Amino acid sequence: MAKKEICTDKALLDFAMPADYDTVSQFLDIFSNRYDFISIQSIGETILGRRIQMVTLGDEAAPKSVMYVGTHHGMEWITTLFLLRFINEYCEYYKSGKQAFGINLGTLFATRCIRVIPMLNVDGAELQIHGVDEKNPLRERLERMSGGDFSKWQANARGVDLNHNYNAGFAEYKKLEAEGNIFAGPTRFSGENPESEPETGALCNYIRFNGDLRMILTLHTQGEEIYYTSGGYAPPGAKQIAAQLGRLSGYTISEPEGLASYGGLTDWFIKEFDRPSFTIECGKGENPLPESRYFNIYAGLREMLFCAPLLI
Ligand SMILES: [Zn+2]
Repeated sequence: MAKKEICTDKALLDFAMPADYDTVSQFLDIFSNRYDFISIQSIGETILGRRIQMVTLGDEAAPKSVMYVGTHHGMEWITTLFLLRFINEYCEYYKSGKQAFGINLGTLFATRCIRVIPMLNVDGAELQIHGVDEKNPLRERLERMSGGDFSKWQANARGVDLNHNYNAGFAEYKKLEAEGNIFAGPTRFSGENPESEPETGALCNYIRFNGDLRMILTLHTQGEEIYYTSGGYAPPGAKQIAAQLGRLSGYTISEPEGLASYGGLTDWFIKEFDRPSFTIECGKGENPLPESRYFNIYAGLREMLFCAPLLI
């Protein structure tokens, strides 16, 4: 399959292409060359040694920091395209001194630091898009776990579902997992221990040891819903912010049920810090949502992504 060329002529780029590692890295390189007011760093590496990159928008010394995280799940790489487009728009608005949704970007830059991790599960997205390649050291095991079909792959390269690998309700989930005969494979296996995976370990350590994060938005697909509780509990302010996020996006506010309510990043951040964290199920349709729909879905998220940091 011939790869679509990235065209850099315009201020706002076209992101309608599968978000594999090379493509995402190329977009981040373009941003890094264009915008000297952002920083891009690696917070760690995946099992297969790919960098997990984070873009910082806004002043690192700003009084409040928030984080946006994309692609926990292999099939959901379209969420990376949303975040790349957001970074691109944020930077162009900031550079030109324009307002977005009535927000002065200079003020946003000075008062809120937004940490954006466009793609956490890089290996999982690679597997879903390209399958397993000859050189992959985990090839045999991956082929066994997937039956050779990676089209519905959600986990990382060890068959662990990253959004069940956080330390929140882990023991309870293990019981449900055993009842449901869930093993290492394409989806829903939580791993041997919380944070056993380098991807979740890198993210949790970053959050623990780097400043004072006030809120997290984690993007998944699909359903047009926003989850704001963990085990029925909402941290202070979360319900009000969820209502605002719902108004800005048109998405429904929901509480997670069943297997969805254990071991996720939202659960862990709420448990560990008692601060608002939201799981946002973007768009509607069957996963993986095609890249051709990225702009349409992004257009519905844009105002929320710009305004959310000011809600805390
Ligand atoms: Zn997901």
